[in-house]
Amino acid sequence: MGRLSELLSGARAVVAFTGAGVSTESGVPDFRSPGGVWTRYDPRDFTFSKYVASPQVRARAWRMRREFWNVIPGPNPAHIALARLEAAGRCRGVVTQNIDGLHQAAGSVTVVEVHGTSREVMCIGTAPRAGTPAGCGFRAPYRWAFERIDAGEADPGCPSCRGIIKSATVSFGQNLFPGVIERAVALVAEADLVLAVGSSLQVYPAAGLPASAARRGVPLVIVNDEPTPLDPLATLVVRGRAGRVLPHAVDAVLGADISG
Ligand code: NAD
Repeated sequence: MGRLSELLSGARAVVAFTGAGVSTESGVPDFRSPGGVWTRYDPRDFTFSKYVASPQVRARAWRMRREFWNVIPGPNPAHIALARLEAAGRCRGVVTQNIDGLHQAAGSVTVVEVHGTSREVMCIGTAPRAGTPAGCGFRAPYRWAFERIDAGEADPGCPSCRGIIKSATVSFGQNLFPGVIERAVALVAEADLVLAVGSSLQVYPAAGLPASAARRGVPLVIVNDEPTPLDPLATLVVRGRAGRVLPHAVDAVLGADISG
């Protein structure tokens, strides 16, 4: 049994912290994947204030989302390994920076989506200020917006209040949704091991969660295919592809666990 399986075997309350790298093997590009959607669109063009100010920016954002969802991705072995660990009672849940919903698709039950979800759209009001959505409460699956776009609307408006519709994600320059960081902090506080997977661990405040857990003495394991700034704080760094590393380790743990 490798060192990762050993640490996972000794833990009873793993909390996973995941980033874009857990989904690249599902075909969802991270910010630096060559040829990925982010090489054709600059996320800084879609700041919250630019989105609110410009119907042209909104139309371009919908085109980008259309491209993003052109191929509906499915969970990969890394998502499935984390869901299995939770189902076996060894993982309390996942805090993710991702917006793709693939942890839930894999069967994870407790998932805190720090940056929201692109599976839904929401009304953000007619003139939200200071990076804070101020909509009427309308929410719908993302298909709702795509159906309107396919019917010829470049920038579909809220059917209830004519407010601006946006994916239910947190854009650059947008405040986190109320309560989400508190939920993430509460989940990480339960951890006896934090497993950071596929994150450059550079986007704050989210990356502060594994960092502060490690500083409190909770073992931090990092699975990533390149170095991260938190590597010096980690109990173990595994350099590799999440979709290969995690299933192997979880198989070893659950295979060795007569109760799980
Ligand atoms: P990031 O792009 O900054 O870092 C991803 C890290 O994962 C990189 O260090 C990369 O080398 C590594 N990586 C890529 N594929 C991997 C694999 N198969 N196995 C192991 N490591 C792998 O991502 P981040 O830290 O999540 O921060 C970027 C922001 O972008 C987040 O806020 C997130 O919301 C957003 N984002 C989300 C998605 C998504 O929902 N899938 C995709 C792109 C960006």
